[in-house]
Amino acid sequence: MIIILFGPPGAGKGTQSHFLVNKFNFIQVSTGDLLRKEIENKTKNGLKIASIINNGEFASNELIYEILDVHLNKIKNHKNIIFDGYPRNLKQANEFEILLSKHNLNLDKIFFLNVERKVIKNRISGRFICSKCNKIYNINIIDDDYKNHKCGVSFFIKRKDDNEETILKRFDLYMDDTAPLINHYKAHHGFCEIDGNKDIPLINEQIRGFLNA
Ligand code: AMP
Repeated sequence: MIIILFGPPGAGKGTQSHFLVNKFNFIQVSTGDLLRKEIENKTKNGLKIASIINNGEFASNELIYEILDVHLNKIKNHKNIIFDGYPRNLKQANEFEILLSKHNLNLDKIFFLNVERKVIKNRISGRFICSKCNKIYNINIIDDDYKNHKCGVSFFIKRKDDNEETILKRFDLYMDDTAPLINHYKAHHGFCEIDGNKDIPLINEQIRGFLNA
């Protein structure tokens, strides 16, 4: 099953992707994680995109297509994939069709995580991630999952683009470029709107319901 998960920055795409990976055997393909890997490995692309990401702007469609194409070749035995953070604009949605047919995949479900702006601001300002496995945590939810984190606490970092100024810029970019995907995908039989303002377990339940539908 192929799923797209999209929504504003801080909607919980990464958190819900990890839920699908852990409970339903999906593999997560996050373009944000792939780009951060390029930066960490100081590749030619990585050097170009570090400042773009840190400023809350988008990487070019060409670069995203290229790294996804390479990545899909690496994971070609996986048939349950969740695309987290891609596509992010209409051009990418069209290019996604090309990538899917090139890799013999079919889009089954589109999960749109709908979250209000004020909720997002609070969530992102408290967010930190494990730089080793990319798991996402929040300073306001220090639970057993955090305490027992498998990589230990030494890898926890705050993303450079998770500051208030960049968050608001990323939200505006989302409204301009990514929100039009709602109309683009609304008529698709697999379109599901999820109330992402709720707490994590309640969002998990909505996703579980749509998967079983
Ligand atoms: P994310 O981890 O999904 O929040 O993405 C972090 C940042 O990576 C975004 O703010 C963009 O700068 C960049 N990025 C991630 N995915 C894409 C994409 N599909 N197209 C363009 N830029 C992207």
